[in-house]
Amino acid sequence: MNLKEKMQRRLKLSRPSLRARARPPKHRTTLGAQFTAANLSTALALQHCKSCGHTQYPPTELCGICLEDQLIYQPADGAGVILAKTELHHSLWEYFKRRLRQGSWPLCSVALNSGPEVIAHLGSDHLKAGDPARVFSHTDASQQAVLIAVDANVDVSYPEARREIVSAMNLDIPAIKEDGL
Ligand SMILES: [Zn+2]
Repeated sequence: MNLKEKMQRRLKLSRPSLRARARPPKHRTTLGAQFTAANLSTALALQHCKSCGHTQYPPTELCGICLEDQLIYQPADGAGVILAKTELHHSLWEYFKRRLRQGSWPLCSVALNSGPEVIAHLGSDHLKAGDPARVFSHTDASQQAVLIAVDANVDVSYPEARREIVSAMNLDIPAIKEDGL
């Protein structure tokens, strides 16, 4: 590696705005990494307490109800109701900075029928507070699981259908800078 390449590599690390490909945040805690792994093969898997049956999100080390540590991931029903909807207009993260140049980024909170309340990317623009919704998980451009909420009528039981929604949101590809490093 010559000096120019070394300098470019250093710039790429220290100046995200110069990267050719900017990706969503990839850092996760150990519990977050477990969540991604558990969600790879299914529409939505949430932590379930073997002792009291409580379903919870975000993942923790102990059950939020009975404090037992026997927590397993189980496929969960993503049906729920939109609690609130908002739009991201500003971000310090390069991936979202570039995405936001094309328009605001919709997000929502959803109360799942199975109990937990989650924050998710909003995949169906017309949804508003009080509307029925369906939440599923998918890997983003950083190969980490993120949650996406869509209209309750959308069938997300097949991986192809989920991939199509994520692709339409451009969540599965990096944000490109043409002359980047
Ligand atoms: Zn419990």
